Amino acid sequence: MSAATPITYDDVVAWINTFAATIRDQKEYLTELDSAIGDADHGINMDRGFQAVIAKLPGLPNRDIGAAFKTVGMTLVSTVGGASGPLYGTFFLQCATATAGREAIGLGEIVAALDAGIAGIQRIGKADAGDKTMLDTLLPARDALRAAAESGASLADALTRTVGAAEQGMLATIPLVARKGRASYLGERSAGHQDPGATSSYLLLKTAADTWSGTAAGDTAK
Ligand code: ADP
Ligand code: MG
Repeated sequence: MSAATPITYDDVVAWINTFAATIRDQKEYLTELDSAIGDADHGINMDRGFQAVIAKLPGLPNRDIGAAFKTVGMTLVSTVGGASGPLYGTFFLQCATATAGREAIGLGEIVAALDAGIAGIQRIGKADAGDKTMLDTLLPARDALRAAAESGASLADALTRTVGAAEQGMLATIPLVARKGRASYLGERSAGHQDPGATSSYLLLKTAADTWSGTAAGDTAK
């Protein structure tokens, strides 16, 4: 196993499965967050989508990481009704393009995939940092991951820093007034609540770090 490409197809599938299980665990919590500033369905939406995803992944014919991400993205788009379906769906479809044909990926490709996924979310959702959305988690996380990669950090270190930035970004949504999505209808009353999508995005990155730190990624010497 190469140190430059320590994350295998199986590691990617393990991450998606762990995320689906975490969403199932946190379904009520995410829905409760959405009940404060939305329509109380974020946990239900994410759980429906990721249960459909994990039913499909074992049937894939090869070990192409891009094909797995494509299945995740298409399944989310077709099974999740809320805004988060197309947004996360596009995220994974863009990750798919960035990793097409790869059976293993390293830090550089993970940065590229995250970057492409975020660009997809921004293309369809037209939101930016500070709008109180999932991007308030994903953008600082992407910047931390890229900075860690550029400084020569190991994948395990880079993921730890990414999760730290993601958590800060998620918590920083609490005082924000929403400018995009359903929460923006509340105006000033959206302040004082943590954004549900920012929370699920934190869990997405946290489960990647937790899953992959037990693999070759965690053993890769700096
Ligand atoms: P809905 O708002 O349709 O009920 P969900 O409740 O599943 O969908 O998802 C809500 C989350 O989607 C929000 O908490 C926010 O993070 C995210 N979101 C909404 N609109 C946008 C957007 N334009 N760009 C990025 N994220 C968004
Ligand atoms: Mg909702």
